[in-house]
Amino acid sequence: MEKLGIAIIGGGPAGLAAGIYAARGGANVKLFEELFPGGQIVKTHRVENYPGFTGGPDGYALAAALEKHAAEFDLSVVYGSVTDLKLTAAEKTFSVNGEAYAADAVILCMGAGPRKLGHPDEDRFVGAGISYCATCDGAFYRGKEVAIVGGGDTAVSDALYLSALCSKVYLIHRRDQFRAAATLVDRVKGAENVELVLDSTIVGLSGEDRLSAVTVENKYTHEQRELPVNGLFAAVGILPRTELVKDQMELDEGGFIVTDKNMQTNIPGVFAAGDIRNTPLRQVVTACADGAVAATKAVEYVRMK
Ligand SMILES: Cc1cc2nc3c(=O)[nH]c(=O)nc-3n(C[C@H](O)[C@H](O)[C@H](O)COP(=O)(O)OP(=O)(O)OC[C@H]3O[C@@H](n4cnc5c(N)ncnc54)[C@H](O)[C@@H]3O)c2cc1C
Repeated sequence: MEKLGIAIIGGGPAGLAAGIYAARGGANVKLFEELFPGGQIVKTHRVENYPGFTGGPDGYALAAALEKHAAEFDLSVVYGSVTDLKLTAAEKTFSVNGEAYAADAVILCMGAGPRKLGHPDEDRFVGAGISYCATCDGAFYRGKEVAIVGGGDTAVSDALYLSALCSKVYLIHRRDQFRAAATLVDRVKGAENVELVLDSTIVGLSGEDRLSAVTVENKYTHEQRELPVNGLFAAVGILPRTELVKDQMELDEGGFIVTDKNMQTNIPGVFAAGDIRNTPLRQVVTACADGAVAATKAVEYVRMK
C-alpha cells in the first residue's frame, strides 16, 4: 500500500489549485482524476470571468494552463477512478486502478453536475443553445431571445440576470407558484422583458446545428406553443458527485458536503473544495479559492499530526 501525506480526489479547478498549493508547500501529495484535467470547464467554449485571463479562453485552454501550472511544482497526477474510499479511521484508504493507497489527509474535489431536463434531444443541443449556467454563458446571448426553465432561486435570479442582457426571456415553470424567495419573484414579475410561461413543460427542442425553438405544453389545457429562442438555460438543480462519501459524512439538505471556512468537513483530516461543497457560488474562481484554502489547511493538519 502506497502511503501519502495528502490525497486529492478530482482534477477540476478545485483539485488542481489544491495540488498547486500542496505541492508548492512541500507535501507528499498525489492527485487522482478519473477522466482528464479541468473537470467541468472543458465543457464550455469560453470562460470569460476567470480573473487574469482576458479574452475568454476556451475551457480546454484554461484546463491546460491549470495542469501546466501544477506540473511546474511536480504535482504527481494518477489517472483512474477512486473507489472504496474509507474516511473514518485516522488513516484514510482507497483504491485506484487496483492499487491500494493510504493518506493522512484527503481533499474531496469530485465536483458536481447539472441535473438534466431529461428531454431526448437535450444532448444534441448542449453547447449549441442549451446551457446549464447563466452566469457562465448568458453573455453569449446578449440582445437575443432566450428561455430559462426552473422554479427555484437559481432559475428566478438567473431570469433576472438574463433580462439585463437579452431582448426577451421566457421563464418556463411546471407549476404556477415559484419556490424562489418572494422578493425575487416580485422583481421577475415586474421585469418588462420577462414572460412567465407557467404550468408548462418542454415537449420539443428544435433547430438544425443550433437550438432555434422550444415547444412548451400547458399541463391543464394541453395547448402547445413554440417559443423562438436562441438559448435555453436549464436551472432545475445541481447534483454533487458524492457517491464515494455520502454514507460517511455530513451533507446538507441538497446533498452537498458541509465544511467550515477552512474547508474542513466533520471528519478530521478530510477537507472538501469546489462545487461538491455547500458554497454560495459554483464557479472556477471559487473552486480554485476553496482548493487553495483546503490544501493550506491539509498541509497544516499533516504537519501537526
Ligand atoms: C457548461 C459549463 C460552463 C461553465 N462555464 C463557466 C464559466 O464560464 N466560468 C466559471 O467560472 N465557471 C463555469 N462553470 C462552472 C465551473 O466549471 C465549475 O464551477 C468548476 O469546474 C468546479 O470545479 P471543481 O473542481 O469543484 O469540480 P469539477 O470541475 O466538477 O471537477 C471535478 C473532477 O473530479 C473528477 N472526479 C469525480 N469523481 C471522481 C473519482 N471517483 N475519482 C477520480 N476523479 C473523480 C471528475 O472527473 C472531474 O474532473 C461552467 C460549468 C459548466 C457545466
